[in-house]
Amino acid sequence: MNKPTNINDYTSVVEADKAHIWHHLSQHKKFETSDPLMIIEGKGLRVWNQAGREHLDAVSGGVWTVNVGYGRETIADAVRDQLVKMNFFGGTTGSIPGANFAEMLIAKMPGMSRVYYSNSGSEANEKAYKFVRQIAHQKYGGKKHKILYRERDYHGTTITALSSGGQDERRDLYGPYTPGFVPVPHCLEYRSQWGDVDDYGIRAANAIEEVILREGADTVGGLILEPVTAGGGVIVPPQGYWDRVQEICKKYDVLLIIDEVVCGMGRTGTWFGYQHYGVKPDIVTMAKGVASGYAAISCTVTTEEVFNEFKSDAADPLNYFRDISTFGGCTAGPAAAIENMRILEDENLLENTTKMGEYMLERLEELKAKHVLIGDVRGKGLFVGAELVSDRDTKEPVPESVAQAVVADCMKENAVIIGATNRSLKGFNNTLCFSPALIATKSDIDEIIHAVDGALTRVAAG
Ligand code: PLP
Repeated sequence: MNKPTNINDYTSVVEADKAHIWHHLSQHKKFETSDPLMIIEGKGLRVWNQAGREHLDAVSGGVWTVNVGYGRETIADAVRDQLVKMNFFGGTTGSIPGANFAEMLIAKMPGMSRVYYSNSGSEANEKAYKFVRQIAHQKYGGKKHKILYRERDYHGTTITALSSGGQDERRDLYGPYTPGFVPVPHCLEYRSQWGDVDDYGIRAANAIEEVILREGADTVGGLILEPVTAGGGVIVPPQGYWDRVQEICKKYDVLLIIDEVVCGMGRTGTWFGYQHYGVKPDIVTMAKGVASGYAAISCTVTTEEVFNEFKSDAADPLNYFRDISTFGGCTAGPAAAIENMRILEDENLLENTTKMGEYMLERLEELKAKHVLIGDVRGKGLFVGAELVSDRDTKEPVPESVAQAVVADCMKENAVIIGATNRSLKGFNNTLCFSPALIATKSDIDEIIHAVDGALTRVAAG
């Protein structure tokens, strides 16, 4: 890939950034003294910073988003054409791209029926919670209002989304939280809470039933889970887990909400992560990969049964979903999403994701054989993690500084951008994350592995 020719001198822009931007997730003191990174341009998996240095982006825009890669002119054209025709109309009004994308999406989600548009993953999950709460009021006199969430999962940044968040770094100091959200144990077998058990997946799912029974089944209306946990450590659910979860939800009449904000749109090699496991959700939320970051869009998708709970009748004029998301009326999102989905199909990117994901796992297993710092390798599709430990026997997690040093080394020595799980998650900020765009080739993966190999060697040597 050639360096873009229009890289200018961005000194004054960087100064403005340093003076005025409050960056996401950044610790002020560290940020003041670090080299600022601005991404100016991108093509495929490559991005260029303000100094013109080329990087391989192994995390799809930092946060698992740019599934189809950078510089997609057909998406930009579709958005431009739509915007000059009709950019926005809010409230109850529909749009052509909104209807067309909903039809395309539902075709990929057998059993699902309705699409509610908003703008972010957090918002999509908030809508799901409101569905559960309103159904609780309409059908169960408000009693079945509790929503269970899982330790180490993340569902967004608003106070209620955080109330269902299983990651301490994101949660701490933002309470009091919205009442009625109750945690269930995580399902990472590598760190089993039940020792060495047969059928770990069933054991971990049974822990959900135990919480339901403890809380009272007549108080629990919903359960939200990521199909594969993302920022909490790339946790692939163990064998048997999802079947048992589905049974438990059915048995206790609990609505199953699947958060596909990261896994959705091909990231794990199927359209949606839950489709690996034969699960039949009631509600599915999605955001990041829906338009690969070319426009903001999120969707909360439900079955017709859930939708039918909100069919207002004359006897109860409040029995409809009294919710609006102003920018859910933007047409850029669905226009971009249509083209994004076409690209995923036309370029067979789901198939590529499965193949390249397997290749990446193989290559990481090779690194595990070579570097004692790697305790566990796991993933699904192009969504892969390597958990770092300071002792393989005790599985003591490395300190945050070690994972961060590996990330920094990949960047400095080989211009490869990788990620690590959320910092200061009590003891579990130690998993390297890889989620390149779904167009990744073997040679891209080799380049990532080469960078990680070198970084682990250098970091281990101190
Ligand atoms: N759900 C999951 C699984 C996520 O990883 C995220 C964000 O990283 C969200 C929800 C929240 O999405 P957003 O940042 O768009 O609000």
